[in-house]
Amino acid sequence: MALRKVIYPGTFDPITFGHVDIIKRAMDLFDEVIVTVARNPAKTSLFTVGERLEMLEVTLKDFPNVRVDAFDGLVVDHARAVGAVGIIRGLRAISDFEFEFQMALMNRKLSNGLKTIFLMPHEKYTYLNSTIIRNLAQFNADISDFVPHIVIEKLKDKIKPESLKKKNSIM
Ligand code: ADP
Repeated sequence: MALRKVIYPGTFDPITFGHVDIIKRAMDLFDEVIVTVARNPAKTSLFTVGERLEMLEVTLKDFPNVRVDAFDGLVVDHARAVGAVGIIRGLRAISDFEFEFQMALMNRKLSNGLKTIFLMPHEKYTYLNSTIIRNLAQFNADISDFVPHIVIEKLKDKIKPESLKKKNSIM
């Protein structure tokens, strides 16, 4: 029987335990999960694609049926190119729903039927996103409950005191 692969596309700027939770759930359902760093020109990212891939690779190194890659372009084209049967997305709250619903229907239309599978994380991750992590890191908050060790290290390297002075945040 053919292996059932899915792709899990996202920005992963940086990866959090919310993403890891979704990846574990997808691993229970499919033979292979391809975690794909999407280069999104509309979003300014803190980490380069290479840095994001490195953090994903280190975090997911012991997950046997998970592979990491990056792509430019339409998610549906990448899904087709790697032979995926569907796209995994995480749903945290109602606020995610409208955007995800639009994207799932558009991707279905563009791909002639590719399925989007929505998975919900553990409740403790429902309020977590990468933006909050980047903001907390600027102020040296303890983020160890939310991100892997490699991410804490990379954030320390990336966010230097001078950027701390320049940036304003409510957190
Ligand atoms: P973010 O929205 O945090 O910037 P991404 O663009 O990297 O994240 O998200 C990729 C996918 O992972 C999206 O489907 C997003 O809804 C989902 N996701 C992100 N954070 C979480 C979380 N804490 N729990 C569940 N799903 C999540």
